[in-house]
Amino acid sequence: MKYCRQCILPDTRPGVSIASDGICSACHGHEDKENKIDWAARAEAFQVIIDDAMARSDGYDCIVPVSGGKDSWYQVIKAREFGLNVLAITWKTPARTEIGQKNLDDMVANLGVDHLDYTINPDVERRFMKAAYEGVGATGLPMHMALFAIPIRLAVQMRIPLILWGENPQLEYGGNEIERLATKLDADWLAKHGCLQSTSWRDWVGKEGLSEQELAAYRVPENPGFDVRSVFLGAFFKWNSYENTRIAEEHGFSYQAGDRKTGTWEFADIDCDFISLHHVTKWQKFGITRAFDNLSVQIRYGQITRAEAIETVRRLGTQIPEEDVQKFCAFQGLPESWFWEVAEKFRNTKIWKRIDGVWQIPGFLIEDWNWGQ
Ligand SMILES: [Zn+2]
Repeated sequence: MKYCRQCILPDTRPGVSIASDGICSACHGHEDKENKIDWAARAEAFQVIIDDAMARSDGYDCIVPVSGGKDSWYQVIKAREFGLNVLAITWKTPARTEIGQKNLDDMVANLGVDHLDYTINPDVERRFMKAAYEGVGATGLPMHMALFAIPIRLAVQMRIPLILWGENPQLEYGGNEIERLATKLDADWLAKHGCLQSTSWRDWVGKEGLSEQELAAYRVPENPGFDVRSVFLGAFFKWNSYENTRIAEEHGFSYQAGDRKTGTWEFADIDCDFISLHHVTKWQKFGITRAFDNLSVQIRYGQITRAEAIETVRRLGTQIPEEDVQKFCAFQGLPESWFWEVAEKFRNTKIWKRIDGVWQIPGFLIEDWNWGQ
């Protein structure tokens, strides 16, 4: 396991590779943001996309997929600044939090947009999550499939010419040079980076008794017959999670201060109690926690040093969100032992070794890590 010498990401994280200079693709992405991308030219290109959307609009100019989180506030604010008539669309998580609901309600009211809250039959979500967790170790797969497919389907069927996504994850968290400079979220991107583990909805038909009809919400139209442009806002305007939070707060976005269940950002991952589970298994699979991602961004922003980040990881430990695991197991009607048995199945033995009866990662970021926790 190799770590970036600038941030704390290892090369086991999907999308992260470490170049011969010892610096990871996410840090190189940050350099691209600062030096390589011509933001003025990107802003002009964005204006062309806006003009095209308005020319082809039949009411709504664009869809903004929103969770109610800081980034979605920023996306809607930006779209409104450009005069776009926005239809905000949410895939409703079966585990929405109180603060998540409040932020969503406030966003719709304060920013003055129409909004669709799309609820999938919870029993279908439950079975799909079980199948995805047991099959590929990813509780978040159905969520990702739904939150991409629903806006794309509705854009096509409601003839809305533009979808405005948020960050380009390959620019923020690591991707190769071509991916980092990408502006479009298209079918290729979805297949490669949509957290779908190289599966499509069809692969899940029959699992846990899921029928084609039940998976309707997870399907992207194959022959759209209407051209929808689908772009990352973060490819046209320099993305900064802290700046987005500040702008969102000015308009009424709120969060609670204090330590997070997973990661270090008190303003992130707050809309849904199941999102933490998506981060939990990264420990078994890649040997990282959510804090590795958050702290690495903070290093790139110049807020903390690498040594301080390492100290924070040490202090936080593995950050297992016990309550969320319990809640998920209750949702599934299964004991907690089931959750941990499945997690164990996905332990990556290329990095994990059993030493003196305890699973450990040789060469881990922190030498004197407490492996018993
Ligand atoms: Zn790095």
